[in-house]
Amino acid sequence: SKPSDELPRFLDSGIYRFPNSNAVFVDPVRLLNRSYNRFRVSPSAYYSRFLEPKHYAQEPTLSSNPNKRKRKPKKQPHSLNEKERAADQRHQEARPLLLKAHESLLGSADFPAIMSKLRSDFCSSTELTGGEEHSFIELGSVWQGPLCDITLNFKFTRLKNETNNEGLENGKVEQRVLPVFNNLIVNDTHDDVEAEFLKRHYILPRESCFYMSDLGQIHNIIPAESDNGFNLIVIDPPWENGSARQKSLYPTLPSRYFLSLPIKQLTHQEGSLVALWVTNREKLRNFIEKELFPAWGVRYLFTVYWLKDSEYLSEFGAVKDKQIIISIPGAYSRKPPIGELLLEHVPGVKSARCIELFAREMVTGWFSWGNEPLHFQDSRYFQGE
Ligand code: SAM
Repeated sequence: SKPSDELPRFLDSGIYRFPNSNAVFVDPVRLLNRSYNRFRVSPSAYYSRFLEPKHYAQEPTLSSNPNKRKRKPKKQPHSLNEKERAADQRHQEARPLLLKAHESLLGSADFPAIMSKLRSDFCSSTELTGGEEHSFIELGSVWQGPLCDITLNFKFTRLKNETNNEGLENGKVEQRVLPVFNNLIVNDTHDDVEAEFLKRHYILPRESCFYMSDLGQIHNIIPAESDNGFNLIVIDPPWENGSARQKSLYPTLPSRYFLSLPIKQLTHQEGSLVALWVTNREKLRNFIEKELFPAWGVRYLFTVYWLKDSEYLSEFGAVKDKQIIISIPGAYSRKPPIGELLLEHVPGVKSARCIELFAREMVTGWFSWGNEPLHFQDSRYFQGE
C-alpha cells in the first residue's frame, strides 16, 4: 500500500492512527514539543537509551537494545496455582491485542518513513551537555530545601492581564523569585518561561504549573472547591520493585502509602477519569482492585499494559475499544505523555483540568505534582531557541 495522509498528521501531532486498526503509534518527543514555542525537546536526550546510531544498522527496523536483559529460561510446565492462573489469564487476554497492534505497525506503509524520520531527528539533534543535574529529591529532604528560591524569567505579558495581542511587550523580561518547594509555581503565559535554580536552567511550558513536595504535603494541592477539581488524574506511583536501577534513581514506597492519596478530594464534582500506571505483578493488581480503588472511591474501567519484551519497541496498550498505543521508551521509568489520548475518554468536558501525580515533567494544560516535577525540564533535555 501507498504511504497515507496520516504521515503528515503524525509529523505535526506525534500521534499516528493506523488505518483500519485500533493501534496508535506515539512519538513522545513530538507530543511534548506541542507544549513549547521557543524550545524543542531534544530527541537524542529523550531516546538516548534506544536510538544510539550504532544500534540501528539494519533497515527498516531499529536494531536490538544491547541493554536488554537475558530472559531466564522458562520453567518446566507445572500445574498453576490460583494466582498464577489469574496472571496467565490476564496475559492471554492482552497478547493477541498487542500482537495485532505490532503487526499493524510493521505492516504499515508509513512505518519505514516514521522510523527514518525518528532517526534523522535523533541524529540531527544536539547532544546532552552541561554538567550534573540537581537532585530535587535530595534537596527537598534537607533543611535548606524550603529556603531555596527559583527565578522565573517571563518574556511576555502574562495571560491573565492580557486584553489583546498588542499588549504583548516582546523581549521584555519580568522576573519572579519564588520558593521552589512546597509552593504552587505557575506559568500562566502563552509562552515558554526560562527559570533559573542554583545556576541551572529549566524550561516551563506555556500554561502549566507544578507543586514540588513530599507526599506528606500533598494535602496542600487539594482544591478549595470541588468544582475546581480535576477531570483527569494520571498517577505513576513509586511502586516498590526489585530493580537496583530504580533504587538509585528515586525512592519507592510500600503500596499501603498510596491508600491515603487524596484522590476523592482531587476529583471534579462532575466526575473524573483516574489513570494509574501499574507494574505487571499479580499481587499488585489484586491490591489495586481490592483495596486501592475502593479506598479512592474509583470504579474500574479499563487496563493499561506496558510490555518491554520487544526487540526495539516497548508497547503499552489501553484496552478500551481494543485500542493499543505503541511507543519507543525514553529514560528509565519515563512514561509517554498519554494525556491527549486519555482525554478522549474523559466524559462531558471540553477543557478538562488535568493533574499528574508523581510527575517528573510538565505539560501545557497540566498541573504536575511530585518530589521532582522539574526533573525533565532541565535545559539539558532541550535543544535551545
Ligand atoms: N511518570 C514519571 C515519568 O514518566 O518520568 C515517573 C514517575 S516515577 C515512577 C515515581 C516518582 O515518584 C519519582 O519521581 C519519585 O522521586 C517520586 N516519589 C518517590 N517518593 C515520593 C514521595 N515520598 N513524595 C513525592 N514523590 C515521591
